[in-house]
Amino acid sequence: MNTPRLSSVPGYDLKSIPLKSSLLALLVFSSGVAFPATAAEPADTVVLHGRVYTVEARHPWAEAVAIRNGEILAVGTDEEILRHRVPTTKVLDAKGHLVLPGFTDCHVHFLDGSTSLSQVQLEDAKTIAEIQQRVKTYAAAHPSDPWVLGRGWTYPVFPPDGLPNKKYLDEIIPDRPVYLEGFDGHTWWANSKALALARITKETSDPPGGSIVRDTAGEPTGAIKEDAADAIVRRVIPEPSREAKLQALRAGIHLANQFGLARVHVLGGVNAGRDDLQNVDLFEELRRNGELTLRFYLAYRLDPPDVSGQQLRAIVAARDRYHDDWIAAGGAKLFLDGVIETHTAAMLEPYSDSPALSGDLLWDADKYKHFVAQLDQRGIQVFTHAIGDRAIRLALDAYEQAGKQNGTKDLRHRIEHIEDASAADIPRFGRLGVIASMQPLHSYPDEDTLKSWAPNVGPERAQRGWAFHSIEAAGGVLAFGSDWPIVTLNPWSGLETAVTRQTAEGTPKGGWIPSQRISLADALRGYTLNAAFAGHREKSEGSIEPGKVADLIVVSQDLFHIEPSKIGKTRVVLTMVGGQVIWRTQSF
Ligand SMILES: [Zn+2]
Repeated sequence: MNTPRLSSVPGYDLKSIPLKSSLLALLVFSSGVAFPATAAEPADTVVLHGRVYTVEARHPWAEAVAIRNGEILAVGTDEEILRHRVPTTKVLDAKGHLVLPGFTDCHVHFLDGSTSLSQVQLEDAKTIAEIQQRVKTYAAAHPSDPWVLGRGWTYPVFPPDGLPNKKYLDEIIPDRPVYLEGFDGHTWWANSKALALARITKETSDPPGGSIVRDTAGEPTGAIKEDAADAIVRRVIPEPSREAKLQALRAGIHLANQFGLARVHVLGGVNAGRDDLQNVDLFEELRRNGELTLRFYLAYRLDPPDVSGQQLRAIVAARDRYHDDWIAAGGAKLFLDGVIETHTAAMLEPYSDSPALSGDLLWDADKYKHFVAQLDQRGIQVFTHAIGDRAIRLALDAYEQAGKQNGTKDLRHRIEHIEDASAADIPRFGRLGVIASMQPLHSYPDEDTLKSWAPNVGPERAQRGWAFHSIEAAGGVLAFGSDWPIVTLNPWSGLETAVTRQTAEGTPKGGWIPSQRISLADALRGYTLNAAFAGHREKSEGSIEPGKVADLIVVSQDLFHIEPSKIGKTRVVLTMVGGQVIWRTQSF
């Protein structure tokens, strides 16, 4: 076929769109010169009168966008875009508002988060009495639920050791099992009825990888730590019905769209055994019903000590089966360590406040490297949870070694979290092409960060806490996400934190490690174009450019003309995914 060499124009992927429309769009867009009205391809929808921030470096600003068949046909001035208007074209007036590409959240536990929406929410409960009140109210409102389930309580509610006790739940609900997950997914809280149903007594021994907290007399207190311990209880909780899961997913998708999300990267369950990928048929069902208004990239969770041949085959099979614009699978998620607050993140040197501790790797280092190489060889993108500098170094070593050994390129393996990298490793992200998948809201400088996280690593290492700027300045790609339900799915508070490194109240003055702040434009890229790149989608998503999917949002305030401390208050007034308006506020 005689094809003009348009594909050499950087930034334009012309494979997926008809040549004629892309050629027109390109001419109109890049020349800025009026193109004959008769030649313009008709649009299904035009968005006019916007302040369109495209996130495309060469043409960052425009006024209007034309959309056809779920894709962006043209981007330009109102005048240019109006040429694509025909009588059937829908017109959306952005009323001078800021228009951005739809956001991607690079790190969520979607089924967990969605399920938690209909359970007791304890995120902002500050006292035991408040928790009791909420649990009681919820239980009364849901008399037929066999278990009262919820999540989000925090350690400071329970001084001095930060651990909850069954007695507070027994006081309000003695006859029905209650089981509540801590905000970080590491500790659970059961009442006596739940312990009895799970047959947890004084005699029950701790399972590997977890523990049943006991009082001085050896009696279980109701606090249960880490995955394996949780599993003892979870196996006696009835699995939600298929319809209940679908209902939960619908609520999760709706919430995501309201926040301006068009895609999420799903990193498996927060806990072993609850994998979104095992539920991929639910996403399929929603798609068949026309209810899928959020794009999904699903990773398969692999837990130590080994990866079986069957698991490897399952990931490859999932990737071969699901790889379109809406449902894609085939990533693999591994956990290398825990968290800094509880001294379980693996550090190269001992913790500053507890010199006897330096955290442990959850995988045997050689086995981890071996399995990374196996995954890499099959072209599977690897996502490694690594928070401490020792875990981060091992992940970088494993990725580097696998690439050399297999001769693979551009697989864009990722490290998730990267809370404290060593100075020597920061430039390796850029050099090795490893994606820095970070969650800005985890660096929110509240009491937890300043009074627990920072003293644990000490002042020298704290300087590299969530080193957004250093990683980026050394050529690394920052891809942003939330870690929902560990923190809110709302990306706007995360965006603010990356820019200000301050709380909503403006503390600490001047910002926490202000040298690691990044610009608004760079932070926006973390949720859009870089996020698309981190999921191998930058040719079709992540910026407002002709030929890309029509995922865009209109927001309540112009982020470029407000105080950075107000970014978190942004509301999304309209969300379009695949050319369809799927959310808009009543007032817009
Ligand atoms: Zn996570």
